[in-house]
Amino acid sequence: MVVLKFGGTSVANAENIQKVREIVDQSVTGSCVVVVSALGGVTDLLLDALDMAASRDAGYGDKLSVIEERHIKTVKALLPVANQSACLSKIKSELNVLESLVEGAFLIGERTPQLADKIVSFGELLSAYLIGQYFQAEGMDAVFKDSRELIRTNNTFGKAVVEFELTNPNCQEYFAKNTNRINILPGFIASSVTGNATTLGRGGSDYTAAVIAAAIDAEELQIWTDVSGMFTANPKIVKQAKSIPEISYQEAMELSHFGAKVLYPPTVQPVLAKGIPMRIKNTFEPDAPGTLISKGQILEGGTVRGISNIPDIALLSLEGPGMIGIPGISKRFFEVLSLANISVVLITQASSEHSICVGISSNEADRAETAVNEAFAYEISLGKIKPVIVEKSLAIIALVGDHMKSHQGLSGKMFSALGKNNVNIRAIAQGASERNISAVIDEADVKKALNTLHEEFFEEQVKQLNLYVMGTGNVGAKLLDQIEQQQRYLKKNLKMNLRVIGISNSRKMTFNEKGIPLKQWREELDKGEAANRITFLDTIKQNNFRNSIFVDNTASEVISQTYPDCLRKSIAVVTCNKIACSSAIENYQELKALSREYNAPFLFETNVGAGLPIIDTLKHLIASGDKVHKIQAVLSGSLNFVFNKFNEQTTFQEVVRQAQEQGFTEPDPKIDLSGIDVMRKILILARESGYPIELDQIENKSFLPEESLNTPDNQTFFASLEKYEEHFQKQYQQAKANNCRLKYVAEFANGKASVGLQQIPKGHDFYNLEGSDNIVLFFTERYPNQPLMVKGAGAGADVTASGLFADIIRIGNF
Ligand code: ADP
Ligand code: ASP
Ligand code: MG
Repeated sequence: MVVLKFGGTSVANAENIQKVREIVDQSVTGSCVVVVSALGGVTDLLLDALDMAASRDAGYGDKLSVIEERHIKTVKALLPVANQSACLSKIKSELNVLESLVEGAFLIGERTPQLADKIVSFGELLSAYLIGQYFQAEGMDAVFKDSRELIRTNNTFGKAVVEFELTNPNCQEYFAKNTNRINILPGFIASSVTGNATTLGRGGSDYTAAVIAAAIDAEELQIWTDVSGMFTANPKIVKQAKSIPEISYQEAMELSHFGAKVLYPPTVQPVLAKGIPMRIKNTFEPDAPGTLISKGQILEGGTVRGISNIPDIALLSLEGPGMIGIPGISKRFFEVLSLANISVVLITQASSEHSICVGISSNEADRAETAVNEAFAYEISLGKIKPVIVEKSLAIIALVGDHMKSHQGLSGKMFSALGKNNVNIRAIAQGASERNISAVIDEADVKKALNTLHEEFFEEQVKQLNLYVMGTGNVGAKLLDQIEQQQRYLKKNLKMNLRVIGISNSRKMTFNEKGIPLKQWREELDKGEAANRITFLDTIKQNNFRNSIFVDNTASEVISQTYPDCLRKSIAVVTCNKIACSSAIENYQELKALSREYNAPFLFETNVGAGLPIIDTLKHLIASGDKVHKIQAVLSGSLNFVFNKFNEQTTFQEVVRQAQEQGFTEPDPKIDLSGIDVMRKILILARESGYPIELDQIENKSFLPEESLNTPDNQTFFASLEKYEEHFQKQYQQAKANNCRLKYVAEFANGKASVGLQQIPKGHDFYNLEGSDNIVLFFTERYPNQPLMVKGAGAGADVTASGLFADIIRIGNF
């Protein structure tokens, strides 16, 4: 005999019940027991109706009407007209009884657990009756049997305990005599030895099926639900979760106890005791293999079998100096909780015995607090123990696997993955069996934590990076196009999945949690909402995705001020905006410190030399113990472009305009020509070399006339360049006369930095520097005479975007 259990969704309506019939008809050859839940959602409706009635809310009638309509509609859709009236009148008479009971609760304004069980049992009774009628009408050899006549429990209403000595013989006798091929039984409900209706706890139909399967030594127990098996994590929260093909009883039990709702926790015990194999199957995809739960040694797959989570957890902590060395405190603590009928989900105790901490269900926290404080009132009054501390809005996440104990480093991997993603861990427990490592975390972090752990233990191959791109000017637009081009390559070759979740410019912003389709990011952005930098940042925080990266392609100071906020939330920052790193040294140091503290990379390679690996090279030199003596560099692609083009045939103003048009200058070209941009760059290199200097300590020998420096806008600036053409020509002629070329050079030596125009003689490394190229010479302890040189294109949107891209990839490899 096989026992099949169909859950609420599987029997939610006529269409689904037809699928159930097909499954029973086609996949079961011999006789079987079919245990069914109430039509999906009906149990909740019944409980809502009762709660409303008990609080004197006449609206309960509406809930009962919905229940009635759903059953009538289902009967009419399933049964031939000739069979309908008998079935409908039975259902209506049951509903009348139900209505009287609920009305009773309304009249006395009370809701006892006993009455609740009586009322809620109508859900399963009606569904099993209705399905029995349908099967018979379809010519199947089926019979309805009321589980309350077979399953006996104690009187703990709401979650009664099965009395196996009575239940087992009842089942055995009934099924030994029964000759029908299909027996349809309501799940969840039972009756106490004193004859009251009881229930086995929410989700308890699974357990009904297991109890019967064990009693009659069934060949197999099948749990038919709305997912294709037990998954590596809750598939509603982790999209990448996969069905587990095989799993041991212990693992299944552990996962269900730790929140895998697909299986009601007590279900495994009875079938495990009898060694009955159990399958979890999908009513809506009957051909999918599902999950086989058995005692077999399953070696396939990794050491972690699944990850589960329990929501709505509260932590109770009892602590105080009076606890040290005094025997019996823990005993009393647990006794109080047990007497209050509060079940403890997780326990941790500090080795000093200074505190005990337990995780319980949130909705029992207030009761627990009162009970514990009352029990320890005397010690609390003496100050030996503090009043119990209650923290709510927490959740438990757990890694489960039989073979975890024989593998080192799993908890290390678990906690470092969580730490990297800023998931705060409030308490940890690892059972002695080492089949489970669990942690208590904030409820708000559950989605991120589960996805992080799932990625770490089940999808190591592909790392997901979630990008938020601020700024879509020259550089931002190029970056998005480059990502679009490389996405497939990165996934295939570097096992990195780059998703752009948000894009904003100064006018519009758009988000897509699944990743903005980058082929048409411009259209998506056009359709987006009005830009708001606060909302943009709030969305990043709210999404709370792992490996989030904020990419700043702007030159805006306000945007640069948001970095600390990002880093504190473990959101990495990649920026080509130089303002943050060249602001006051305290800001720069704070950003570096936050990046370390929150494990959030802060990368700004493009601040110096666009895409050239200058900062990265310097970082490696310093990290490996080298010391910088001197840096000499041409760091302005713009100025190099300008002085390479400028000669007796051109005018200075024309050349600067050309540089601006070709995107080689900042939008405000004065930032380049005044030398401020180069000052910022040498400042950053000095700081990265370990010298905490400030911008105003850098000497700037400006080649621009004072008047040009003080112009208020681009127009007057260009006019003044025109006016001073002679001044610029003179500088050019002098250099030419000395056989030199003009280069705008930045220098750092002996802790001092300077920038200015220099005449560079033939033969010097800088002399032949082309176009908008940059060059940096690092003179260090290891490179004292022949400097380490980095040279190449140092400006332009394409190379800057590729520099940002390189930083993003660095984070992917982090
Ligand atoms: P039924 O009504 O059939 O008893 P449940 O709603 O009780 O179904 O259980 C199935 C649901 O369990 C799935 O829809 C899924 O959302 C949830 N679930 C949670 N964790 C897991 C997991 N690890 N594997 C599969 N399903 C899970
Ligand atoms: N109908 C009950 C509930 O919703 C039992 C079950 O479906 O397993 O909890
Ligand atoms: Mg269930």
